[in-house]
Amino acid sequence: MFLVTFLSSCGKAPEPLYQEQILALGALIDITIWGVAPDAAQQAADQIAEDFNHIHTTWHAWKPSPLTRLNAHLNDTVAYTPEAELLPLLAQAKQLSLNSGNLFNPAIGKLVAAWGFQGDEPKGPPPDAKTVAALVAAQPSMEQVHLAGNSVQSSNPAVQLDLGAIGQGYAVDVAIAHLRKLGIHNAIVNASGDIRVIGKRGTRPWRIGIRDPRGPGIIASIELQGDESIVTSGTYERYFDYQGKRYHHIIDPRSGYPARGTVSVTVVHNNATTADAASTALLVAGPAQWQRVARAMGIKQVMLIDEQEIVHIDPLLAKRIHFETKTQPRMKISAPL
Ligand code: AMP
Ligand code: MG
Repeated sequence: MFLVTFLSSCGKAPEPLYQEQILALGALIDITIWGVAPDAAQQAADQIAEDFNHIHTTWHAWKPSPLTRLNAHLNDTVAYTPEAELLPLLAQAKQLSLNSGNLFNPAIGKLVAAWGFQGDEPKGPPPDAKTVAALVAAQPSMEQVHLAGNSVQSSNPAVQLDLGAIGQGYAVDVAIAHLRKLGIHNAIVNASGDIRVIGKRGTRPWRIGIRDPRGPGIIASIELQGDESIVTSGTYERYFDYQGKRYHHIIDPRSGYPARGTVSVTVVHNNATTADAASTALLVAGPAQWQRVARAMGIKQVMLIDEQEIVHIDPLLAKRIHFETKTQPRMKISAPL
């Protein structure tokens, strides 16, 4: 997630471009629509704002929501039937989690909570080592989340669901589906850096900037068109500093501690939910394992920036990305994914 900017190219003639920014999911959502009358575009944007707010309240991990109710009932002896709208995303999350070898693991809600990231302002202190070790030893995973018909049940009491790693990507996919239903075929939805584009900006592709994980500004830009998503996970998105150390919000389920070695991962894929799960999983996988995990998840375009500021990138994405920094970063181009 987080701040991938939309770059407007400076066309001279006025064009039928509608842009609106809304606050939803606790974040800024940019909606850009091309080629539709302003009234219709505005109505569409309003409906999408409602979609985002609805998804936000449905999947909230710590304020009372259908998800917190499900979490409270996960270990009931009789399987619980949650709000029906939770089911498709839970099934999708389970599959993505299994594909990622549990590195994207939405069953680690207890760990995320122990680190204070289920709260509006995470500030530490970090949990003690014993607490972390116990939560890791309990091995919560989506394998133990059984989905049968309309009911959900976990065979491991350590499982608590936190869909924070795919919530925004999912909302972007829902928004794009909604736009299409309204007959809109050229648009961008950008939820703080989780982006999906459809169609074009007139005769040109859409041009997107990718945030520089080291500070303000962008590190690179890319042209997207047709139906593509670009999603970035970064350690700079949510963190707290405690006694001189920084702790970020992407937890390695194997250690129970914030993932090390990587500062951001950008994934290009047709579907934003999958790209969002993958960006989180690959950040956990790190410089040594990202290629294997990307292949297992069916992801073909990845850029990973490690703590040494080395850009690890696959050849397909390397070919289409333009670095916008003064000097070209150090790059390691992988084998094709
Ligand atoms: P993202 O920014 O998309 O990488 O998502 C990060 C959010 O997902 C965190 O704020 C947590 O709520 C949750 N989370 C943290 N670590 C993981 C993980 N390994 N797998 C799944 N969700 C995670
Ligand atoms: Mg993610």
